[in-house]
Amino acid sequence: MSDLRDLYQEVILDHNRKPRNFRRLEAPTCSLDGHNPLCGDRISLDVTLEDGVIKDIGFAGSGCAISKASASLMTESVKGKRTGEAEALFEAVHQMLLRGPGGQFDPDEVGDLEVLAGVAEYPTRIKCAMLSWHTLNGALHGAHDAVSTETGDESGGS
Ligand code: ZN
Repeated sequence: MSDLRDLYQEVILDHNRKPRNFRRLEAPTCSLDGHNPLCGDRISLDVTLEDGVIKDIGFAGSGCAISKASASLMTESVKGKRTGEAEALFEAVHQMLLRGPGGQFDPDEVGDLEVLAGVAEYPTRIKCAMLSWHTLNGALHGAHDAVSTETGDESGGS
């Protein structure tokens, strides 16, 4: 188990050091910014949709290792997928990260994104990992206002 955890750590560190698809697109069909005020993570996401397929995707921004690695993994996993498949993946990752202590998730549903499963044990980092996914979800649903991890869920937003 600890070996497995080390391996996941390695993958996350590698994506943080060399984020995939870390670039702005020249003519994206949708762009959206996301912000996680709790940690200060910021992402600008560009997506090129063609016939309901994510043809290209890129991101820029700054943030902690988890947010950057998660964004990198996210872009890699949804590129070439249909929007419906990307949304299903968003739901699966959301479930995996918010499953709570001892909660179960289906590794088949998340595929390579299982490397992020350990983040569920660190509640303060879950929003770091979810930021890029919330931003993608907003972009696919035509949102124009920047996504914040502090709005929508919970009450008490100012
Ligand atoms: Zn963060």
